[in-house]
Amino acid sequence: MPKIRKVLVANRGEIAIRVMRTCKELGIATVAVYSEADRSALHVRTADQAFFVGPPPSRESYLVQQRILDAAKAAGADAIHPGYGFLSENASFVRACEAAGITFIGPPAAAMDAMGEKTRARANMIKVGVPVVPGTTEPIATEAEAREYAQKIGFPIMLKAAGGGGGKGMRRVEGMGDFESAWRSAKSEALNSFGNDAVYIEKYLEKPHHVEIQVFADTHGNVIHLNERECSAQRRHQKVVEETPSPILTPELRAQMGEVAVKAAKAVNYVGAGTVEFLVDVHRNFYFLEMNTRLQVEHPVTEWVTGLDLVALQIKVAEGEKLPLLEAPTPRGHSIEVRVYAEDPSRNFMPSPGKITYLRVPGGPNVRDDSGVFPGYTVPNFYDPMISKLSVWAPTRREAIARAQRALSEYVVKGITTNIRYLKAILAHPEFVEGDYDTGFLGREHTTLQGVEDPKLSEMALLASAVYAHQRDAKRARTMPGGKAGAADASSGRISPWRLALRSRRR
Ligand code: ADP
Repeated sequence: MPKIRKVLVANRGEIAIRVMRTCKELGIATVAVYSEADRSALHVRTADQAFFVGPPPSRESYLVQQRILDAAKAAGADAIHPGYGFLSENASFVRACEAAGITFIGPPAAAMDAMGEKTRARANMIKVGVPVVPGTTEPIATEAEAREYAQKIGFPIMLKAAGGGGGKGMRRVEGMGDFESAWRSAKSEALNSFGNDAVYIEKYLEKPHHVEIQVFADTHGNVIHLNERECSAQRRHQKVVEETPSPILTPELRAQMGEVAVKAAKAVNYVGAGTVEFLVDVHRNFYFLEMNTRLQVEHPVTEWVTGLDLVALQIKVAEGEKLPLLEAPTPRGHSIEVRVYAEDPSRNFMPSPGKITYLRVPGGPNVRDDSGVFPGYTVPNFYDPMISKLSVWAPTRREAIARAQRALSEYVVKGITTNIRYLKAILAHPEFVEGDYDTGFLGREHTTLQGVEDPKLSEMALLASAVYAHQRDAKRARTMPGGKAGAADASSGRISPWRLALRSRRR
């Protein structure tokens, strides 16, 4: 395969810029595409060339395959990097690139097909002995059949869209009483979001952790994993904070999950960067959830602890090079990423697009801000309202939390409302500090975390934090006299959650 000389990035915002940065470092020319709403966007200014691809709605611009391919041809780009979202997991686009003689920087279409629909992916994983969340491997045709199956595996269950993504088309069902409305709403949300109303059933796992494994494969048959990311801090099934290493993983569990993730990737002849997502239950059993056949939003935390540039690796693999390492590197230190959104936590996280009148971005040692905005920029209301990903590295988890807090306290965004205080409240929460938070954490602590904009609620948040910490300590003293392995960093370092909360409030 020839060297790549010019890459068109079929995306926008922070991820387009992040990909272009690596291209520049590798001496590769960059091409942006932009919609009407993105004429003055930062990714357009960052690229060497830029091509207009249509009106603001992504369906009419970033998702129109032919426009993207036409731009690539006009620019003379020899490769396309899809980023995440948009066309990144679209097998027909991969085939269209191939037909046009353009290298798609990502997995082959067949691997995407095999992992695309959740039901098909589950069936493929069962075939090779990868443990999946118990449930059906086929979409369910009628509500009556669904009820029958739910009765068989026992409530609570999760109705999930086969074509799902982004936490859409998913409903927890407690019992027969709420079955009908959940069935109807899951199906209609699935149809609206994915053009496919197929729904299947999974057993609802109580208090699971979302732990995912980064995998990488080259075209020479080498498949490795690059350790895990803990992504259990989720709001409405969408990640808000990610970290690595996972505070709940032992080296043995990491090795086991890594091995299974590699097996999953091999089963579908995977090439490039991918992520195998697992749910880990309270007994530390793990189950395959899905595979994302692209670069993840949260890849910087893996870059921090491995010292690798995952985009550079993607490009090397697309050029036909062998992976430079043949086993997982031992994670070095700890990294945390928080997603900064233009949204208002005190108004039910309503997006708050608008003009950024003032911006100060955090800096200092081991702080990285992957952003797509600048002072004077107007955040459009057509796309995901994430404006930046702030990630930090430190030798230990405790220091990484302190560094993330410090960095967030430097972040100043004026003109629009952001979730920065909410992020600080998460990092200060005893459950997070302790390091054993499950996917229900943000939902359960909603009021405490979300109300921090209001000084009165802030007092309540502190009080709730203190009560929580007290109860937790008392419980721990009763049940775990020796403390808990895996969360040692958070518990032995003994930074008082109280102090952290107070400190963050003073800022
Ligand atoms: P999507 O592709 O829409 O992101 P996923 O299947 O990856 O959906 O699930 C997203 C999140 O939803 C998980 O990280 C977890 O928090 C929750 N979830 C999904 N399936 C289950 C389940 N069977 N039991 C409990 N929680 C689940």
